[in-house]
Amino acid sequence: MAPNIRERTYIMVKPDGVDRGLVGDIIARFERRGFKLIAAKLASPGKEHLEKHYADLMGKPFFPGMIQYMLSGPVFAMVWEGLDAVKTGRVMLGATNPLESGPGTIRGDYALAVGRNICHGSDSVENAEKEIALWFPEGVLQYTRSQESKVF
Ligand code: ADP
Ligand code: MG
Repeated sequence: MAPNIRERTYIMVKPDGVDRGLVGDIIARFERRGFKLIAAKLASPGKEHLEKHYADLMGKPFFPGMIQYMLSGPVFAMVWEGLDAVKTGRVMLGATNPLESGPGTIRGDYALAVGRNICHGSDSVENAEKEIALWFPEGVLQYTRSQESKVF
């Protein structure tokens, strides 16, 4: 199958990451890796919206506390596009538990606690599509960068 240079992933800086001033660093990491930003906004989602985003985890013992954490301040929502964006985005984030995240990853560089792990990234192409539709019902931008057609 031809490589999909238009794969999209939903990446979000969580309230602790926004509060700690890490938005710029996280944007810079995705930009310099070569991904294309096609949507971004600061948002203050309500409980219902967050419960939809994390619907798969409803019933987990940490779920109520995690929703409270996500309600503690604004988040920075983004859509990044590029080759293998979902899998590579997860690698750049690091493991869910920052103690297991390697140095050089976002969580491995900035976090210690699983309940304060700075960032979210879609875990499959299918979930990325759902998350992008949930967070950006207004849609995303489409544009071409000069270098992208020359890469493959
Ligand atoms: P990921 O964010 O890496 O995709 P999950 O989807 O499994 O991880 O979990 C969503 C979020 O829920 C995690 O990023 C983390 O903030 C929180 N979480 C997961 N497991 C725990 C846990 N055992 N205790 C507290 N919070 C947790
Ligand atoms: Mg997840």
